[in-house]
This record gives sequence, C-alpha cells and structure tokens, in this order.
Amino acid sequence: MHHRTRAPIAAALLLASLIGCAPESGDHAGPWATDPSPTFEEFAATAYVEPETGLYIVDGDVPLVGVEGLRAYYDARFGTSGAEHDGHIGTVHHALSVHTVNGADDVWGPGLVELTYCVHRAFGQRHRAMVEAMRAATADWDHRGRVSFRYVPEEDPYCDPSNDRVVFNVQPTSGQPYYARAFLPSTPRVYRNILVDEQAWHAPPYTMTGFMRHELGHVLGFRHEHARRADLPYHCAPEPNDHRPLTAYDPASVMHYPWCHGAASGDFTLTLSDREGMVSVYGGEARCIIGDYDGHNCFVAQAPAGTEPFVWQNDLYITPYEYCSVGVSDGINCLVLEAQPGTESFVWGIGLYTTRPANGVCPVGDYDGHNCFVSYIPPGTEGFVWNGGLYVTPRRTCPIGLGDGHNCLVARTPEGMDGFVWGGGLYTTPHH
Ligand SMILES: [Zn+2]
Repeated sequence: MHHRTRAPIAAALLLASLIGCAPESGDHAGPWATDPSPTFEEFAATAYVEPETGLYIVDGDVPLVGVEGLRAYYDARFGTSGAEHDGHIGTVHHALSVHTVNGADDVWGPGLVELTYCVHRAFGQRHRAMVEAMRAATADWDHRGRVSFRYVPEEDPYCDPSNDRVVFNVQPTSGQPYYARAFLPSTPRVYRNILVDEQAWHAPPYTMTGFMRHELGHVLGFRHEHARRADLPYHCAPEPNDHRPLTAYDPASVMHYPWCHGAASGDFTLTLSDREGMVSVYGGEARCIIGDYDGHNCFVAQAPAGTEPFVWQNDLYITPYEYCSVGVSDGINCLVLEAQPGTESFVWGIGLYTTRPANGVCPVGDYDGHNCFVSYIPPGTEGFVWNGGLYVTPRRTCPIGLGDGHNCLVARTPEGMDGFVWGGGLYTTPHH
C-alpha cells in the first residue's frame, strides 16, 4: 500500500495526504496540526507540482492551476477574512459538497451536458480493463439527470488534452505520488484529464473502478467529504473555515478518503447520500435508493454461506446462520449426549442431566449430589430429550442484517420498488 516517494523532501509532508498514502500513516501530524496558519510562502513551498503539467496537486488528487489557484485554495483553507475564503470552496449540497468559484457552484451546465471522453491507447494491454472500469464507474454516477458520460472510442488514438472533440481524456502515467487525479468542471481543457498512475492497478482493496468512481466525483465538481471535518490530521486537509454542512456528514462517501477516519472498509463506492447529492445538483433520480446499480437492478447483498436469502412482505431477509456452541450438529439440532445405558436423560432449569447409573459413576459430566450434570443450555436455545439423547436447538446469529427473533432483516425495500432474490443475492428493482 505504500506509495512511492520520489518527490523532493520539501514535498514529503503534503505528499502524505495523497490518495496513494498508506492508511497506517493516517495519524501522522503535519507541521500545522498545532499551528493552523502557515504563511502562503511556507504552504506553497510544500505543494506538489506535477512535472508534466506544472499543476499544483493538493489533498491527494485535487489539481490547481497556477499560483492563483494555489493562493485561492490557501485562502479558503487557512484564511480568516470572509471575502477571500468565501470565494473559492464551500457550498454543501446534501452529503456531498460542491466546489465553488467566486461564490458560484463549479458544476457543469446549465442544461443538458454530455461529458465525452476517450481512453488513451498507451494503456496497452490494460486498455480494455481501463475502458471497463470507466464504464462501470460512469454507470454508477449516471442518475439520468442532465449530465451524462459517453465513451468515444474513435478518439482513443488521439486521446490527449489537445483533443477538443472530447470533453476530457483518460491517460496513464507513472511515478506520481497519487493513484489517480482528475479535475474540476472549471478546469481548462488543457488540464482536463484523468491521469491514472501505474500503481493504481495494484492497490487492494481498491479497484480501478473504485478509483474512477472517486475521480469522477471530482469531475462532477464534488469535493472531498473528509474536508468537512475539522478534527483530522493535517494530511487529510480539513478546511474548517469554509464548510457549510446542510445535512449529515457521510464518512462512507465515495469522496471520503477511508484512511482519514472514513467508514468505508473496502473499495470506493457510492452511498445513498452521494447519489442524493448528485441528484440535488444535476437532477434525475437516484436509480437505487439502496444497493448498487448493476446495469439492470439494485444489488443489495449476497447471502453469506450457511444462510438463505428470501423476500417477505417485499423486504429483504436472510435466514440466520445457525451453529452449535455445545454439542455437534446433526443437521438440524445439536446433539450433546447420546442415550447412555442405565441412565435417563432429562432437562432441568438451564441444564442437561442424566440420572446417576447403578455403578455410581457419571458417564459424562459431574455428580451434583443427585444427578449427573452434563451441560448448561446456551442462551437463546432450548434443551430437549429425543430418543434418550440430550439435545439443544442451535444458536442463531445474523451475519448481516438485524435479527427479528426469527430471521435477519437485511434491508427494507424502498417505496415503489420490488425486492427479489437472484443467484443467492438480494436485489431491488431500480427507479424508472
Ligand atoms: Zn480526491
């Protein structure tokens, strides 16, 4: 997971914030963790400059054009006088926050916008995989609003920032301190590309599709969700002066670095709040209120091994996972002790017992002065005797979902959608 550190030492502290950084470095405190106000010159001296383009890259993968761009970012982040810091970043829509320039949202439009793109042939043998990652990631953001993405394969042989027949291009790079970086809607065409570093292909649990989901969020104008927190280490770039939360902060957002106290444990994926934020800016509908749109339906969850998915009253359930904490499963119940000759098995209180045999020696368990105590009955189970043997019912647990006493409720199907089971998974139909 460690990113390569080829950058000059002066840049090392800021580089810790890049998307390539290892989560375990997450508590590293930068020089301004205690002094929140470096001078602009001090701040500029640590900014990473992308050699190819001369762009400043801050907060991992956010490109800024020229010293003016860096200055505006600095003012937004550290400035205290309202006029300057209000000018750059900071309107929050739902759980996403959108970049602003001079007080106006930095978004595409107004009106219908088709964001066309090509994928550079220089991806070589990975070209198909890159095209597929972009297809899947753009599909996740597509909510049939006024902005859509369209791949233009004819432009792949000419896929660089000088190509004005597409809105942006996707290109490989290497040796960068980030996995990938994108741009914002106001970025001029000459810088309007998604650069994908070689190391992004080898960064589990993150997939190329996951990285592209995050980068496309920037392409749409969305800022880092973790920037809304003021209690993070320096390298997570808190911006305490300019966030204006309207709804709940979303630590699982696709725009939240997981290693900056995020809640997502796997790949970068869109949350309902991300979808709602997208819809609030660009219109359309979140196709899936729960689950992920797979191109046809909304995938909610796979039933874990040992459970069965089912739908009841249109809601999504699994049967609980059953196991024997005492005894051995016979397929249905837990056999604790087979019938013992010369004794009688019985249940008393919360224990399983046999009577004491004529020879006075308990076959199993301890003599309690009257009988042979074999086992306690585990909480949540029942003890019983069958064919002379001692049994308990299995314990039940919900590996996913919430137990209702019988089964595990994984998700309530939203109004207007249908829940269904397919291939061991739980789904809902999408919005139409
Ligand atoms: Zn980012």
